[in-house]
Amino acid sequence: MSNDAKSVLIVGAGFTGLAAAYELARAGVKVTIVEWARDIGGLASAFDVGGTKLDRFYHHWFTNDAHVMALIDELGLTDQVRINPTNTGVYYANSFFKLSTPLDLLRFSPLGLFDRIRLGLLALRARRVKAWMALEDKTAADWLRELGGERVFKIVWQPLLKGKFGPHAEEVSAVWFWNKIKLRGGSRGKAGEERLAYYKGGFVALAEAIAAKIVALGGTIQCGAKIDSLAPVEGKWRATSGERVFEADRVLVTTALPVYADLIAGWAAPDYLDSLRRISYLGNVCLVLELDRSLSSTYWLNVNDASFPFVGVIEHTNFEGPENYGGRHIVYLSKYLPETDRLFLMSDDEIFDYALPYLQAMFPKLEKSWVLARHVWRARWSQPVVGKHYSRLIPAQDGPLPGLHLCTMAQIYPEDRGTNYAIREGRAIGRRLAAEM
Ligand SMILES: Cc1cc2nc3c(=O)[nH]c(=O)nc-3n(C[C@H](O)[C@H](O)[C@H](O)COP(=O)(O)OP(=O)(O)OC[C@H]3O[C@@H](n4cnc5c(N)ncnc54)[C@H](O)[C@@H]3O)c2cc1C
Repeated sequence: MSNDAKSVLIVGAGFTGLAAAYELARAGVKVTIVEWARDIGGLASAFDVGGTKLDRFYHHWFTNDAHVMALIDELGLTDQVRINPTNTGVYYANSFFKLSTPLDLLRFSPLGLFDRIRLGLLALRARRVKAWMALEDKTAADWLRELGGERVFKIVWQPLLKGKFGPHAEEVSAVWFWNKIKLRGGSRGKAGEERLAYYKGGFVALAEAIAAKIVALGGTIQCGAKIDSLAPVEGKWRATSGERVFEADRVLVTTALPVYADLIAGWAAPDYLDSLRRISYLGNVCLVLELDRSLSSTYWLNVNDASFPFVGVIEHTNFEGPENYGGRHIVYLSKYLPETDRLFLMSDDEIFDYALPYLQAMFPKLEKSWVLARHVWRARWSQPVVGKHYSRLIPAQDGPLPGLHLCTMAQIYPEDRGTNYAIREGRAIGRRLAAEM
């Protein structure tokens, strides 16, 4: 039986929308993706540096990110994946510490020997937890204090929680943290060194490869069109984007939950809309510097110093070399924050002028003249706040009326959002819809 008459409209061309469209197109369903931005990729979209695409927001995969690796393999693109050893460090009390291997941990002098051992054991104990549901009732802060003690919490974990969740740091669930420790610990080589994976040409190059496949299979991707309403009309779903109208048998929304709520606010029940608005999201600001030289040999520098206004300094070219970017060294300064935060609202120049003195205090040799170019990227919907009993807040994939579906990063749980899970969930719902149609 042919599926030709059946159609699905997907809102959003991030990895979730692309993965779903790929499965639908493979099954012969007529699929159209409508994307607000001018380019595909969503949070993993890119811009141009020295003739190469670079992620707006830094990205890497863990070597155990099986869903993304399986898709890459299926597309015959495994040779585009690079697995590199990386250096992780911590900046604390005006000093740098390596923190890549178990041995580095034993040498981490801000903690006494007893606390260093507790820290190491904490990671091992956390990774052994299988019944994560038992952690749903705890905050990460309580659980980490319990496992490692107050001093380890204050020096190591609290700054990370604050950097990642800002004013929501104390609310974050132990489940979220457990999963982070588990995944990171699983991405290591034989000597315990961390190994991470990247895609040649940036994550967007993979997004483009999936998009090319969708188009080859008969699908359509329409960028630069913001969907502003979704409604059922005469047995079909109608989406509007200004004057434009898109119609399909089913719709799959991949945007943040509050955006989805706004799209259906004209007709959906208030209770349902409320249920979509109860998960808070943080935004993210990334300042990306193109430098004429390297700042340090560390790829991922966690900043555990409360006076520094960014959560991390990520020198991307210590992971994917500067030769890929016309010899330029790429540094990201990242901050997760509410969209009302002063930093989120500053102009690009203000953010750069604000950040530079802090970076110079950390790297005293750094001169403004080293900065060949700078870019600022903001994302309003970058991280759902995963609080206690988060499982109770997650809306179903099927909407309140037949033919309306939702697949979005806030539904990813107990894992944290990431492209690996966007691909897993996007493919799963794409297959299900194709089977149902
Ligand atoms: C700072 C940062 C670092 C990260 N690091 C990593 C990492 O190292 N590894 C990793 O795997 N993941 C990482 N992630 C997470 C990863 O980027 C996301 O999990 C993933 O890209 C989400 O894909 P998605 O398709 O679900 O959502 P999105 O990428 O958000 O896609 C949703 C799309 O919907 C579009 N849209 C929204 N509203 C409308 C509308 N009204 N009409 C039409 N289109 C609309 C948006 O423009 C967007 O393109 C990071 C994210 C951030 C912010």
